[in-house]
Amino acid sequence: MVREAMQSVEQALAAAPGGDALDRLRTSWTRLVDVLALGPAPALRTCPNCGATGMREATRCGTCWSKLVPPGAEGDPT
Ligand SMILES: [Zn+2]
Repeated sequence: MVREAMQSVEQALAAAPGGDALDRLRTSWTRLVDVLALGPAPALRTCPNCGATGMREATRCGTCWSKLVPPGAEGDPT
Protein backbone atom coordinates (compact mmCIF):
# COMPACT_ATOMS: atom_id res chain seq x y z
CA MET A 1 0.00 0.00 0.00
CA VAL A 2 2.88 2.34 0.83
CA ARG A 3 4.42 1.67 -2.56
CA GLU A 4 1.21 2.48 -4.42
CA ALA A 5 0.83 5.72 -2.49
CA MET A 6 4.44 6.69 -3.18
CA GLN A 7 4.04 5.83 -6.83
CA SER A 8 1.04 8.16 -7.11
CA VAL A 9 3.08 10.99 -5.55
CA GLU A 10 5.88 10.34 -8.02
CA GLN A 11 3.43 10.40 -10.92
CA ALA A 12 1.94 13.67 -9.67
CA LEU A 13 5.40 15.18 -9.34
CA ALA A 14 6.36 14.03 -12.82
CA ALA A 15 3.17 15.44 -14.34
CA ALA A 16 3.35 18.80 -12.54
CA PRO A 17 4.74 21.85 -14.36
CA GLY A 18 8.26 22.97 -13.39
CA GLY A 19 9.28 25.65 -10.90
CA ASP A 20 11.71 26.25 -8.05
CA ALA A 21 9.27 25.12 -5.37
CA LEU A 22 8.53 21.96 -7.28
CA ASP A 23 12.24 21.24 -7.74
CA ARG A 24 12.73 21.53 -3.98
CA LEU A 25 9.75 19.28 -3.40
CA ARG A 26 11.19 16.70 -5.81
CA THR A 27 14.54 16.83 -4.00
CA SER A 28 12.84 16.38 -0.61
CA TRP A 29 10.77 13.55 -1.97
CA THR A 30 13.84 11.74 -3.31
CA ARG A 31 15.49 12.12 0.10
CA LEU A 32 12.39 10.75 1.82
CA VAL A 33 12.37 7.73 -0.48
CA ASP A 34 16.05 7.15 0.35
CA VAL A 35 15.40 7.40 4.09
CA LEU A 36 12.51 4.96 3.91
CA ALA A 37 14.73 2.58 1.91
CA LEU A 38 11.97 0.14 1.14
CA GLY A 39 14.23 -1.81 -1.17
CA PRO A 40 12.95 -3.83 -4.10
CA ALA A 41 9.29 -4.72 -4.30
CA PRO A 42 8.38 -8.03 -2.64
CA ALA A 43 8.15 -11.04 -4.90
CA LEU A 44 4.62 -11.91 -5.89
CA ARG A 45 2.97 -15.04 -7.18
CA THR A 46 -0.34 -15.94 -8.69
CA CYS A 47 -2.66 -18.36 -6.93
CA PRO A 48 -3.05 -21.50 -9.11
CA ASN A 49 -6.58 -21.93 -7.78
CA CYS A 50 -8.21 -18.49 -8.21
CA GLY A 51 -5.54 -16.47 -10.00
CA ALA A 52 -5.28 -13.79 -7.30
CA THR A 53 -1.93 -12.11 -6.74
CA GLY A 54 -0.28 -12.55 -3.37
CA MET A 55 3.07 -12.71 -1.62
CA ARG A 56 5.44 -15.27 -3.08
CA GLU A 57 6.26 -16.72 0.34
CA ALA A 58 2.64 -17.02 1.44
CA THR A 59 1.49 -20.53 2.37
CA ARG A 60 -2.18 -19.70 1.86
CA CYS A 61 -3.98 -17.62 -0.74
CA GLY A 62 -5.44 -14.46 0.79
CA THR A 63 -8.41 -14.59 -1.57
CA CYS A 64 -9.59 -18.20 -1.83
CA TRP A 65 -7.66 -19.44 1.23
CA SER A 66 -6.35 -22.50 -0.59
CA LYS A 67 -3.03 -23.91 0.53
CA LEU A 68 -0.02 -22.79 -1.51
CA VAL A 69 3.35 -24.45 -1.78
CA PRO A 70 6.08 -21.82 -1.33
CA PRO A 71 8.57 -21.79 -4.22
CA GLY A 72 11.56 -24.03 -3.52
CA ALA A 73 9.57 -26.43 -1.35
CA GLU A 74 7.93 -28.14 -4.32
CA GLY A 75 9.79 -30.83 -6.21
CA ASP A 76 12.74 -30.74 -3.81
CA PRO A 77 15.05 -33.58 -4.94
CA THR A 78 16.37 -34.27 -1.45
ZN1 LIG B 1 -6.53 -18.21 -4.48
